[in-house]
Amino acid sequence: MSRPVIVVHYHELWLKGRNRRFFLGKLYSALRHGLDGIPVDRIEQPGDRFLIRLGAGASIDEAIARVQHVFGIAYYAVARPAERGMEALCRMAWEEVEPLQFSTFAVRAHRSDKTFPHSTMEIEAAAGRFLLEKLRAHGRDVRVRLREPELTCHIEVTPGPLLVYARKIPGTGGLPANTAGRITCLLSGGYDSAVAAYQMMKRGAHLSFVHFYGTGARPGESSLHVASGLARVLTRYQFTAKLYRVPFEEIQREIVRYAPESFRVLLYRRMMLRITELFARRERALALVTGDSLGQVASQTLRNLAAVNATASMPVFRPLVGTDKMEILEIARRIGTYDISSEPFHDCCPVFLPRAPELSAKVEELNEAEATLDLASLIAMGVRGATMEKFTYADGRVESTEPRAIVHTPSGHTATLQISKE
Ligand code: ATP
Ligand code: MG
Repeated sequence: MSRPVIVVHYHELWLKGRNRRFFLGKLYSALRHGLDGIPVDRIEQPGDRFLIRLGAGASIDEAIARVQHVFGIAYYAVARPAERGMEALCRMAWEEVEPLQFSTFAVRAHRSDKTFPHSTMEIEAAAGRFLLEKLRAHGRDVRVRLREPELTCHIEVTPGPLLVYARKIPGTGGLPANTAGRITCLLSGGYDSAVAAYQMMKRGAHLSFVHFYGTGARPGESSLHVASGLARVLTRYQFTAKLYRVPFEEIQREIVRYAPESFRVLLYRRMMLRITELFARRERALALVTGDSLGQVASQTLRNLAAVNATASMPVFRPLVGTDKMEILEIARRIGTYDISSEPFHDCCPVFLPRAPELSAKVEELNEAEATLDLASLIAMGVRGATMEKFTYADGRVESTEPRAIVHTPSGHTATLQISKE
């Protein structure tokens, strides 16, 4: 018996137009990369689908889990390839449905190879009749129901093999990884920014991450391990990532010392945006992403978001701005960041939290509050103290390097720093 194959159907929408080959090429490499380490004989492309031919000893469950991390897939299935003929097809259909429990079923055929001598209706009728007889002969109390059957046995007639499958698995959707350009994410360690990052990756963006950390009340209590854990999980979807880790406590102390108390958190955020932009330029990213959600906390009222945003020169995307916390947590659970964000960690932002935070800041007020600060040297302090951790996915695992200091070249972001001083 031939080995099962995985048939992968992509979203039709992005297939339109000139970019088709580009997107399909990226989806192909994402599948290849994602399945790294699992024996795969080859990945074929008969018609509008990919066919993953697993090699000897490949774990199907593991392969399914890997495909689940690949963006751009509408649905996929573990299918049985059949030889070209009705008899072989019926036999495979029987093998597929026999172990499954159901009381109503239907056969659905799809023919992309028009040279096959039977029409879809003929295939459906013949295979349906065959299955019904076989099932009844085995004492199974089943009926054919064309509308909303409990089980659908799918048959695909491709220019390659005939495929039979009854268990369709919804794919993750989105656009293939690394098709949309680069974005830099302000990754806090909380639930929201990791989910926001995921949403942008799902649209094909490749993300780098910037995390600001305090030293924590006690040693080892910092948030670095959480940010690192999140970057690791997220790397699975895009295969490589960098995490910039910026010490923030000194900067916060300066803000606390010189700026009005009620603006503190907003000024922290503006510093974060400015510093992140420098790393974004270094990464050749064209935009930033944050986990802000409208009205969730004091710093996320509409006015405050607008006043904080005014400092940014790049577009700042906030994909969760209209998403409820419950929905965000649901996604976090699904993508595997929930448990990491639930770990206790020292979040630097609530440090020196104002008793009465401003809910309705104006840009001019924040500009005025910042006039007492030496912004350029605060930014330089953050950038100089930063270290970078690199993540790489291979063989189903994500490896990371020891965090390293960043080399500052005159043409690198220190030069940009000079410009942003003015
Ligand atoms: P999150 O769950 O992502 O922490 P949140 O709802 O708790 O978000 P805030 O903590 O106010 O909201 O932060 C708003 C956004 O600012 C975050 O989603 C993140 O993008 C950015 N941010 C906040 N703190 C940090 C940090 N320490 N390092 C990097 N980015 C941060
Ligand atoms: Mg937070």
